[in-house]
Amino acid sequence: MIIGDVDTVASPVLAPVRQLQDGWAGLDEAASLETLRALQRQACALSESAAEHGYRKVADLAGIIDVMLAPLAEGEETFTREFKDILRDYLEALVKLSAETPCAPRPEVVEAVGAQARRSLRVLILEAEETLADELSHQIAHFGYSIETAATLDELLALLAEETPEAVVMDVLLPEEELSLSEAAQRVRELGGEDLPLLFLTERGDIESRLRAARAGADAYVLKPVDVHELVDQLDKLTTEQEKDPFHIVIVEDSSTQAIYYSTILKRAGMHTTVVNDSIRVLEVLDEAAADLILMDMYMPGCSGTELATVIRQVPRYASIPIVFLSAETQLERQLDAMSLGGDDFLTKPISPAHLIRSVAIRAERARILRSLMLTDNLTGLLNHTSIKEQLHNEVARAARRGGTLSFAMIDIDHFKSVNDTHGHPVGDRVIKTLARVLQQRLRKTDYIGRYGGEEFAVILPDADAPTAAAIVDQVRKSFGKIRQFSSEGVFACSFSAGVASFPDCPDAVEVALEADKALYAAKHAGRNTVSIAVRD
Ligand code: GH3
Ligand code: MG
Ligand code: MG
Ligand code: MG
Repeated sequence: MIIGDVDTVASPVLAPVRQLQDGWAGLDEAASLETLRALQRQACALSESAAEHGYRKVADLAGIIDVMLAPLAEGEETFTREFKDILRDYLEALVKLSAETPCAPRPEVVEAVGAQARRSLRVLILEAEETLADELSHQIAHFGYSIETAATLDELLALLAEETPEAVVMDVLLPEEELSLSEAAQRVRELGGEDLPLLFLTERGDIESRLRAARAGADAYVLKPVDVHELVDQLDKLTTEQEKDPFHIVIVEDSSTQAIYYSTILKRAGMHTTVVNDSIRVLEVLDEAAADLILMDMYMPGCSGTELATVIRQVPRYASIPIVFLSAETQLERQLDAMSLGGDDFLTKPISPAHLIRSVAIRAERARILRSLMLTDNLTGLLNHTSIKEQLHNEVARAARRGGTLSFAMIDIDHFKSVNDTHGHPVGDRVIKTLARVLQQRLRKTDYIGRYGGEEFAVILPDADAPTAAAIVDQVRKSFGKIRQFSSEGVFACSFSAGVASFPDCPDAVEVALEADKALYAAKHAGRNTVSIAVRD
């Protein structure tokens, strides 16, 4: 049988694809392990050579076939017709993909260094007024930016030529008076690229000045005297790399061939997966790591997918996780039954990788948005009181299971009432947002940050003992204390006090929270603007 008709001369990977097809055609339920192993080896070899030749998609798909064949070649699964059909679809896709134009070979994958604070982003500032330039670079640095200042356009262009920064901030009052703003902006963009975010600082906020800035190509516009908070807000917006945590998909599937198949496809699309072969373990797995979506087989020994969905839905914490059923079931009625029992969607096997990825990603994204709306605080975007407390319980339970450590810090802004009284509530809100941002910038990605209430915050630091956590929070305290706040009443700075308690020094989550609160009280009592560690007697 010949599938597809693509010019054989064009692609160096087509011959091995054809070879795979021939192997496929000879497969039946009685296929020997030997035959299956040979096929798996071919798929593996194809995956490698395709990657070398720049046929990334072919390499990926051949890799999937390799992984799919593994349990069969090992004799762990038996070969079925259904499997053969799925394989046919992939071979057809391989033929088409081999005809695509190859791209440059795959670049080395750079692994993220995990559990590190965000790297600092390089920003260039053109500001002739030296004190303002120093002040700005000093202040913005607390928010995770590394700043270089230039006093003239030429200096700026020289810095730009060294390495393209994440953004450029420039005063509209240029030191080179003969140059128009748009000419200057144009020269910056020539060196830094069309997409380089450009932010203007200006004395005037009238419509004409704004128009002039917009025409000169400004992406954002901040008024002088510069409110650092606003400037950082704008920089954050312009430089956010939309780097999101990968989706975590839990796959409940008794057949390990299928589970590996789904898991391989989703992983190749950048998602994390956990496979549950034994349906009884699903609650354990959900407890261990938050899931964005559950992919659930309909038919498993022990219990059905719909039964399991009902059980999952009974746990309030998991009620909002989308469940997508997977089954060869094509009867509409059964599908509707499954949906009415708490499933969000129904995918019919065999399913193409593209379809699977799309269905899963769309639902996971939607659920994530909904969840973040429910779990976060409006003003700061941090976890709200309920979520951070629940997270504390989860993390303590997790640390207990693993024999690990965890710290919890309660943070409260000092004399906040007088900030509101002197500068007004909106300025108070801005101070709260500033602290939220400093916490986000300074803490590790694995830490949890919550707004506990009014001007109180709570932070969970997994894997940190009390002294380590206190040292980290103290760094935040120093950064926060250096940030100037502006209001019509003048310039001021705020401080906070914090209390730190840890597990297993405290035996459970309730005790951890209680002791952190006591330590916070002690810090206030000791004169504020300090971090204290819980002392248990
Ligand atoms: P201490 O150093 O002892 O913590 O003194 P404090 O003034 O910070 O403490 P207190 O608890 O007396 O005052 C907290 C104030 O925070 C009172 C409340 O009006 C204000 N507040 C609570 N939530 C918000 C909010 O969302 N926005 C603003 N602007 N103020 C808030
Ligand atoms: Mg099954
Ligand atoms: Mg308070
Ligand atoms: Mg306070």
